[in-house]
Amino acid sequence: MSLSQLLGRFVGVRQHVVDPGGGGAPRVPQPVDTVVVGGGIAGMSAAVVLAERGVTVTVLEAAPNLGGRLGAWPEALADGVQRVEHGFHAFFRQYYNWRAILRRVDPGLSLLKPIPGYPILSRRWPTEEFGDLPPAPPLNLLALLLRSPSVRLADLRGMDRDAALPLLSYDRAGTYAELDTTTADDLLTSLRLPDRARAMLFEVFSHSFFNHEAEMSAAELVAQFHFYLLGNPEGLAFDCPDEDYATAIWDPLTRHVERHGGRVRTGVAATALHREADGWRVSTGDGASYRAGHVVLAVDPPALAALVAASPDLARVAPELVARMPGYGRPGPPYAVARYWCDGDVDAGRAVFSGVSRQPTLDSVTLYHRLENESRRWAARTGGSVLELHAYACEPDVPAEVLAERMRGELAELWPEAARLRVRELRARVEARAPAFTPGSNAGRPGVRTDAAGLYLAGDGIATDFPSALMERAAATGIVAANHILRAAGGAAEPVYSVRPRGLLARRR
Ligand SMILES: Cc1cc2nc3c(=O)[nH]c(=O)nc-3n(C[C@H](O)[C@H](O)[C@H](O)COP(=O)(O)OP(=O)(O)OC[C@H]3O[C@@H](n4cnc5c(N)ncnc54)[C@H](O)[C@@H]3O)c2cc1C
Repeated sequence: MSLSQLLGRFVGVRQHVVDPGGGGAPRVPQPVDTVVVGGGIAGMSAAVVLAERGVTVTVLEAAPNLGGRLGAWPEALADGVQRVEHGFHAFFRQYYNWRAILRRVDPGLSLLKPIPGYPILSRRWPTEEFGDLPPAPPLNLLALLLRSPSVRLADLRGMDRDAALPLLSYDRAGTYAELDTTTADDLLTSLRLPDRARAMLFEVFSHSFFNHEAEMSAAELVAQFHFYLLGNPEGLAFDCPDEDYATAIWDPLTRHVERHGGRVRTGVAATALHREADGWRVSTGDGASYRAGHVVLAVDPPALAALVAASPDLARVAPELVARMPGYGRPGPPYAVARYWCDGDVDAGRAVFSGVSRQPTLDSVTLYHRLENESRRWAARTGGSVLELHAYACEPDVPAEVLAERMRGELAELWPEAARLRVRELRARVEARAPAFTPGSNAGRPGVRTDAAGLYLAGDGIATDFPSALMERAAATGIVAANHILRAAGGAAEPVYSVRPRGLLARRR
C-alpha cells in the first residue's frame, strides 16, 4: 500500500461494501429459472452469479458474438483473419464488481496487464500525464494541482472556489438535487479556470462519458469525478487484456456459465416480452419462446425502449417502466471507432493509449500493435502498425469512413510521423448506443427493480445508489439484479462493492 493510499484510508477513501451478500443457501433450494436478454457485461455478470447459485439461466444475445460494446469478432483482412473489437477499453482498478466477475475465470487477474502512462495530447499545449499521479485522494488532487503545467498558483487564486466545492463534496441525493438540471458545460465555466486547465484536465475527462458537456448533467460530471478521481483509492492507472476480448473474457465466461448449467445463445434477438399467469415468456426473432419466472433485461438504452414498445403487456404490469422509456431510450450522441492497419510505425516513444483534447473529432488513440498479441504478431510479420482511433461524442449523420479519415488527419497534427503511414486496411464504425445523461434526466432514470414482479434491468445506463460508471456500472447492476432474484428464491446473494460513497467534504456542506 502506498503512502497516498494509507493517507486516503485514514480519511476514509477505501473500498466500501454496498451489500455484504450471503443470507441464503449456496444453491437455490427449489428450481428457479431466469432469462437474461443481452449478453454484454451486464447480462453476463447476472448470468454468472445466477448460474453459480443453481438458477437455470438462459442468456439471449442478438449479435453473433457476446460482449456488446466490449465485443470482439473475427474480420477477414487481405492477409488473413484478425479479431477486432468494438473499441479499446480501460479496465480501471476500482472496478471492484467487474473484476470480481473476471476473477471467476482468472483468479489472479493475470489477463489484465498494466498500461504504462495516461498522457493527454493537445495541439496547443504540452502533453499532460495522468498515469503517474499518486493513487488516492487527497494526495492525487494535490499532486495534480501542484505538478500540472496546466494550473498555476495564480490560476487557483482566480478560480471560483465555491463553484468548485461540489466537485469535492459528492453526495448522491444532494448532488443530483442541486446540479442535475445544470449542464456540465455551465459548471465548468463557473469554475473560472484558465482555458488550458479546462481543456487538459476537465474536458478530456467529461468526453469519455459519450456525452457533450453542453448536453450532460453537471451532477453526472461530479459523480464521475468522484468515482474516477476523488473517491477511489486505486488511482487513474488502468489495465487491459493483451488478448482480444473474446479470447480473454467472453469465451472463458461462456464456459463458466455453461459449466454451471446455464445456456448462452448468440444470434437470438428477443422481440417481445409477455406476462403470463405463471411468469414471463420471451419471444425471439427465430420464432421460439423462452419461459421463466424472472427476466433480466440487460440491453442498451435504445434496445430496451424498442423491446418495451414491442411488449404491450408491459403497459399493464409495468406502467412506470413504460413511462420512463421515451426519455431513457434516446441514446447519447454517436461514437466512432476506426481501426487502421498501416505500413510503418509511429515513434517508439508514443504511449499505448493517449487521450486527446480539443481536436474536433479525435478523442483517443490506441496502439494495438503494442497492446494485443495478435496485432503485435501482425506488426512483427509485416513491419506495420495497428492503430485505433476513437471519437466519443461526434457529429450525427456523418459516415464512419469520413469520421475515420477526419480522426486520422487530426492524429497527424499531433504526431507528424502518422501522416507518413500508408493505410493497408480500415474497419470503421459509428454507432449510438451509449446512455445519455442529459440535464434533468436523473429523476426518470430507471433502476434495477421495475414495477413488475420478476422483471429487472441491468446496464450502464441503469441507476445505482452507489458511485459507478461504464463497465463497472454494467457489471454492478447485473449483480444487483441477480441478487434480487436470489433473495426472492432463498439463495445467498453476491457481495457488491463501491468506492467511498460520498466526497471528502460532503459532510461539511
Ligand atoms: C468505443 C468504446 C469505448 C469504451 N471504453 C470504455 C472504457 O475505456 N472503460 C469503460 O469502463 N467503459 C468503456 N466503454 C463503455 C462500455 O463498453 C459499456 O459501459 C459497457 O460495455 C456496457 O455494457 P452493457 O452490458 O450495459 O451494454 P452492452 O454492451 O450494450 O450490451 C447489451 C447487449 O444487448 C444485446 N441486445 C440488444 N437488444 C437485444 C435483444 N432484443 N435481444 C437480445 N440481445 C439484445 C446487444 O447486442 C448487446 O450485446 C466504451 C464503449 C465504447 C463504445
